[in-house]
Amino acid sequence: MTIIAAIDPESIINAAGILKEGRLVALPTETVYGLGADATNATAVAAIYTAKGRPSFNPLIAHVSDLSQATKEAYFSEIALKLAEKFWPGPLTIVAPVSSKCSVCDLARAGLDSVALRIPADLTAQKLISTLGRPIAAPSANRSGHISSVTAAHVGSDLFGKVDLILDGGPTKFGLESTIVSFCQPEPILLRAGMVTRETIESFLNQRIKSAADYKIIAPGMTASHYAPLATLRLNALDITEDEAAIDFGGQLIQFQKHSLWMRDLSPTQNLTEAAANLFTYLREADRSGTKKIAIAPIPTFGLGEAIQDRLIRASASK
Ligand code: AMP
Ligand code: MG
Repeated sequence: MTIIAAIDPESIINAAGILKEGRLVALPTETVYGLGADATNATAVAAIYTAKGRPSFNPLIAHVSDLSQATKEAYFSEIALKLAEKFWPGPLTIVAPVSSKCSVCDLARAGLDSVALRIPADLTAQKLISTLGRPIAAPSANRSGHISSVTAAHVGSDLFGKVDLILDGGPTKFGLESTIVSFCQPEPILLRAGMVTRETIESFLNQRIKSAADYKIIAPGMTASHYAPLATLRLNALDITEDEAAIDFGGQLIQFQKHSLWMRDLSPTQNLTEAAANLFTYLREADRSGTKKIAIAPIPTFGLGEAIQDRLIRASASK
């Protein structure tokens, strides 16, 4: 069931309660409507992908309510902080290296060591985040491949029955996505053009900003928006060899556990939402175990399995 609610103090408290339970709320922002989940809860973030029908995992923007919450999540360089102070709240997203206190889950970051953060200017969005007291992960509130929603009615026509609550804040102010600037390299890089123009940022900082495309030529891989494990992956494994760690699904490899250096099961009960929620955390743990090879059990190719497969195929092909 999907409820569409007008904005008042009660609907915001209700929305924060829904998010706290790990369910989804569509919320207005000044750019486009977001499909929001508690960014600290990987199962809730997995539900975003199910609702959107997105066949791949990409890192999401974590929306925060103030600068102190942002600087708790990531390390801000002097220049990143300068930009945040100038353009927040507003349609600018800053990508920065995660801090040791980062609460945004691995799935919302697609396993990366960086996190995309934004303080939206929309007051409903701000109130919802501060009431929840945690960052909200929110990509655009539309089915995968459809255009972004700029009214609650658009959200309803794409996601009715797939989101618990739609907060109707009227048409969004801008209707265009946020600008994304990364501060993970020595100089800022424009990852996505958006509401705040390159010229505005360049004249404020008094320097030229490279685009991701320019930067890839200079330093291939450094602007990659996907986590690649250090170990080599062997997909659709039906056994485990002695030099392999293993990531199982539904107990298919359990009989070989004695051979395995390190082993986890993405979901012993074959629940794909649980598997998606564990995916990046387990890949990282496997890497940390020091193994050079990881055997991965067959994963179903339907529902969220498609996005899991997509991620694993890309990770194995990058070797
Ligand atoms: P959306 O949430 O659909 O507006 O898209 C978010 C955009 O931010 C995507 O293009 C992501 O690739 C990008 N993004 C989010 N987090 C990161 C990150 N840690 N590093 C690089 N790009 C990111
Ligand atoms: Mg979108």
